[in-house]
Amino acid sequence: MTELPPEVWQRIAEAGIRVLRIPTPFQVGRVNTYLLEDEPLTLVDSGPNSGKALDELERQLDALGHRIEDLELIIVTHQHIDHLGLVDIVANRSGADVAAIDVAVPFLENFGDDAERDDEEAAALMRRHGISEEVVRALRQVTGSFRAWGSKVKVSRPLHDGEQLRLRDRELEVQHRPGHSPSDTLFWDADRKIQLAADHLIQHISSNPLISRPLDGSAQRTQALVTYLESLKRTRELPAEIVLAGHGEPITDHAALIDSRFAMHQRRAEKLYGLIAEQSRTGHELAQAIWGDVAVTQAFLTLSEVIGHVDLLENAGYVSEVAEGEVIRYEATSDTPADQLGDLIPGGNPVPAQG
Ligand SMILES: [Zn+2]
Repeated sequence: MTELPPEVWQRIAEAGIRVLRIPTPFQVGRVNTYLLEDEPLTLVDSGPNSGKALDELERQLDALGHRIEDLELIIVTHQHIDHLGLVDIVANRSGADVAAIDVAVPFLENFGDDAERDDEEAAALMRRHGISEEVVRALRQVTGSFRAWGSKVKVSRPLHDGEQLRLRDRELEVQHRPGHSPSDTLFWDADRKIQLAADHLIQHISSNPLISRPLDGSAQRTQALVTYLESLKRTRELPAEIVLAGHGEPITDHAALIDSRFAMHQRRAEKLYGLIAEQSRTGHELAQAIWGDVAVTQAFLTLSEVIGHVDLLENAGYVSEVAEGEVIRYEATSDTPADQLGDLIPGGNPVPAQG
């Protein structure tokens, strides 16, 4: 990885923003939480619900001259456990307000109550896309044990998309940009051109458009990747100079990075189309053709990826679903070659990156 110029870190520090990297038990590694040395003293995300994460959070706050008890506001960027697990504990100890996007409040406050229903729906989805009962059962165990790293979160300060969150030294525009999860919320400091982006955009990995239950409780599956790409397009238009992500390093060329993501998703959709054009396949067969064994150990994740890209192909009229008993197979509905599908990304991106 290329080192960031020291000026970038200097600007982040001058903005009163400190990065605390909190350990997680997940493959993604540490999660970035951000301390805003402002009034109120604000923590953006918390890390997962574990003693180790809490120790590290305390230690890193202490190194900056703060204690958990000093925190006055905690912002939740999205509903994933590596980001929110400690929020409740930290809020109880400090008495801090907890802010989160309004649409996520029922999910956050009832975290885990619908676990069984979530699992059943995920299991049904996996079966429908050709994943064996054995793998489905193994995955349910993993998901169940992971849930302990999350927690319910009591939200005292619901945020609304587009509102300005005012702190003494800054205004942050609240931007609901779903896709990676239904509750992804970004915080845009227009004066400093700094974006707090959580997992919406990450330098070293593409954000998975995970299939999630809609926050409004509706039964209809949302097209997570399509939603994500639309959100990404809006972020690309911002004149951001520094994007602070939920994992990894600050991003200083967000438009170029987003363009490379668009190109990657286009290529991946073309590749899947090529596989489907060869022969009809289930979602799981497609995942295996691309990721091999990873499609088994990470069956839900890879299936989410496949379904997201096949949504693009279905929306463009190149692929359709055929039911074979309980299982869905995808088949091509066109003989267009894979390299001539045209732009599959909604709203496309013909404009080259600036700067
Ligand atoms: Zn996440």
